[in-house]
Amino acid sequence: MQTRSGSVYRKPDTDGKSPSRKRRRVAVDFFDGLPDDLVLSILCKLISSAQSPSDLVSVMMTCKRMNGLVMNPMVLSKASAKSLAIRAKNWSESAHRFLKLCVDAGCLEAAYTLGMIMFYCLQSRSPGAALMAKAAMGSHAAALYSLAVVQFNGSGGSKTHKDLRAGVALCARAAYLGHVDALRELGHCLQDGYGVRRNVAEGRRFLLQANARELAEVVPTATWRCQLHQQQLRSDFGCDVPVAEPHSANRFMAEWFAGARGKEAEEGGLRLCSHARCGRPETRKHEFRRCSVCGTVNYCSRACQALHWRLAHKSECVPMGRWADGVAAAAAADADLAGADGGNLN
Ligand SMILES: [Zn+2]
Ligand SMILES: [Zn+2]
Repeated sequence: MQTRSGSVYRKPDTDGKSPSRKRRRVAVDFFDGLPDDLVLSILCKLISSAQSPSDLVSVMMTCKRMNGLVMNPMVLSKASAKSLAIRAKNWSESAHRFLKLCVDAGCLEAAYTLGMIMFYCLQSRSPGAALMAKAAMGSHAAALYSLAVVQFNGSGGSKTHKDLRAGVALCARAAYLGHVDALRELGHCLQDGYGVRRNVAEGRRFLLQANARELAEVVPTATWRCQLHQQQLRSDFGCDVPVAEPHSANRFMAEWFAGARGKEAEEGGLRLCSHARCGRPETRKHEFRRCSVCGTVNYCSRACQALHWRLAHKSECVPMGRWADGVAAAAAADADLAGADGGNLN
């Protein structure tokens, strides 16, 4: 085999014996001869397409040189969301430090992930929001949408800190970048006139666009996509389209609050978003709006409400006081839900 320098690797032994120590040393020498910039460029490709943090750890454990080169800011700045997908049970000071290094290297994914963890899990509101803002300024769609949720709810502050217009503006920016939840949120805002002038037709257009984008993310082939899209349009918003995987930051929060920490928050009067894949907790009492039909579920956003409606709540939602109001209440709820892409929030 010809190398870039013109050397030729020796052919392997035909007798099946393990390579001699001399030959192993030759192979190591070839690697040592590779210039740093070439290895760095390979590592940049690797970290941007890594499927889990273990991909990164495997490379770092290869040798001292690789360990040092992975920590190069040029490589860290390219870290993908999956390579930073730390599980809540593995959270530690060193994981925090590693994310911080990636942030300092200019990685927007790391800024968003660490921002969400600090804001919601570690309750370090201002630094967390600042990191999310850093990612949002670099046009990170999920960060823009998360900041919109913060503005809509006035998270981290009091009820008076809600800024609906800022929420809509952030949502519009994230929707422009193709973020599905932002498209859906914006569609509902336009339909209801929430933080923006009411425009039902435009709102409906955004909701259809959200469904089409969601479909494109989860359905691999164009033929399937076309068939499902037609079915989806026929049934308006009720089609059983598979839901895309949540962002690793949402998975982290869902895991973080799944155990004792979640119970502790609930004992303190703080509820979690009922859409289990979201993982956002309230930052003050009664921050999230609840389903006005049954009153048993709470959502951080309409996007979460619409998804949870489709996944589970549609079959669980029973109107409050049904025993008193009888069929009339059920009929009114059904009519409301049919027109609102799933449930009502108050
Ligand atoms: Zn939510
Ligand atoms: Zn309900």
